[in-house]
Amino acid sequence: MRVKTRIVKVDPLGREESLLIPCAEVLRRGGLVAFPTETVYGLGANALMSEAVSRIFQAKGRPQDNPLIVHVSRPESVAPLVRDIPQGAVRLMEAFWPGPLTLLFAKSDLVPDVVTAGLHTVAIRMPDHPVAQRLIDLAGVPVAAPSANLSGKPSPTTFEATLADLEGRVDVIVDGGPADIGVESTVLDISGPVPRILRPGGLSPEELRKFLGEVEVAADTPHQGPPPSPGMKYRHYAPRGHVYLAVGSPKEQAESIGFHAARHVILGEKVLILASSENAPEYAPLAGRWPDRLSVLDLGPRDDLPRVASRLFAGLRYADETGAGVILAESFPEHGLGHAIQNRLRKASGGRTLRPAERAEMNILLVCTGNTCRSPMAEALLRAIWQVECSEIHLNAWSRGTSASDGMPATPEALKAMAARGLDLSGHRATTVSEEDLSQADVVITMTEGHKDSLTRRYPAHAGKVVTLAAASGGALPGDVSDPFGHSQDAYDRTAQDLDTGLRAFCERIKRVI
Ligand code: AMP
Ligand code: MG
Repeated sequence: MRVKTRIVKVDPLGREESLLIPCAEVLRRGGLVAFPTETVYGLGANALMSEAVSRIFQAKGRPQDNPLIVHVSRPESVAPLVRDIPQGAVRLMEAFWPGPLTLLFAKSDLVPDVVTAGLHTVAIRMPDHPVAQRLIDLAGVPVAAPSANLSGKPSPTTFEATLADLEGRVDVIVDGGPADIGVESTVLDISGPVPRILRPGGLSPEELRKFLGEVEVAADTPHQGPPPSPGMKYRHYAPRGHVYLAVGSPKEQAESIGFHAARHVILGEKVLILASSENAPEYAPLAGRWPDRLSVLDLGPRDDLPRVASRLFAGLRYADETGAGVILAESFPEHGLGHAIQNRLRKASGGRTLRPAERAEMNILLVCTGNTCRSPMAEALLRAIWQVECSEIHLNAWSRGTSASDGMPATPEALKAMAARGLDLSGHRATTVSEEDLSQADVVITMTEGHKDSLTRRYPAHAGKVVTLAAASGGALPGDVSDPFGHSQDAYDRTAQDLDTGLRAFCERIKRVI
């Protein structure tokens, strides 16, 4: 259901109380109000009203089993919401509130189950933002508020990003300028013998350790059993394109990102690189070569992690604005805010990484229909051309058919056409393509548009890797490679010549980027 969203622009210092009073009234009566905090924008509802809280889940499309954080404007507001306040929590609240630290408490009956998704604990924090504080204070009720994004998308750090996601879905959006920290709060569980960070965030583990001594950080992706915090099991912070996270030293990351950026551009993808300031100049030549296909966003220096954190979600959202199908992100040092940055990047990437070694090897699958003529010839030709043009990179090339008679040798005409070039196809046996082939390949080159359609329909998850030889050749080959099967030796020789032209142009393009 669409609602009319009122926009209220306020002074970021929260001084315009007259503007905030009506927003607070909307909150208190059960409406939805998005507002800035120091971490990210939040989407708030009266935490004591089940129906109001349910509307948050609807507006965001948030899974019902992912609990919300309750926001208070003063520490005294915690007592009615919890069974008791352990001494450890009192000390943490004194030290870090207001601020980006969320604490778990045993919940009281006052807190509706919908807030905690049925858990017996409630997560509470006091934001350090004058607008959030005044708004909650004026509402006079605790405010349940997850990040103000559509579920699964990067959290909004600006009014504009909040508006883009929630216009028509919430009653009010308060524009109080950009959020300062840029990543969400740290969620801390102090119920066990060792305090445990369930979600790294704006308060670093190091700062907590200074205060608490030992502190554990829960793994990003729990392997078995229920996750300690329900939010951990969801794919999060993800733009529409696929995110790949580079690992290794800064130099290795620049190398693998450069290589994969070029590969994806050649495959016809639009690529965005999320770079550190140190490595950003390394990508300038690529961006210069393909200005409309590849862009680079400088997230900030590796030694200024607060800056990187504050730009991260905007960077992930920028990917959607540019229409990038592939986002290649650098890793940042995992200390201080780097824990939160890496956690968000890993979630956004869904586990896709670029490893340094990947640069040295390229896996290319060639596909035709029967795997007895075109693709085996293409495989042999590619190996031969590659040896001359791209020898720095190890090539694994193999060929398959979309509907092959498994075990058939290459046709005598194909053998002959290759023998004329000193290449031997006698050991070849036809094989039908499988999902496994597509998983192993970095690039899948098809002989025709028809083969490409058939593969992308069968294996949509790998669609981004599949390209026709005509496209891979950058236009050197004007269209489909025609099927010589059943035709004369002449037809085979002409097909071999087309394959040679297309593959040579493809190798040239690869060579220019290595
Ligand atoms: P968001 O408000 O969108 O930043 O998400 C809140 C995060 O806090 C999610 O990861 C939740 O799973 C987590 N959370 C909220 N309440 C609890 C709780 N009672 N126990 C564990 N995690 C919680
Ligand atoms: Mg969120």
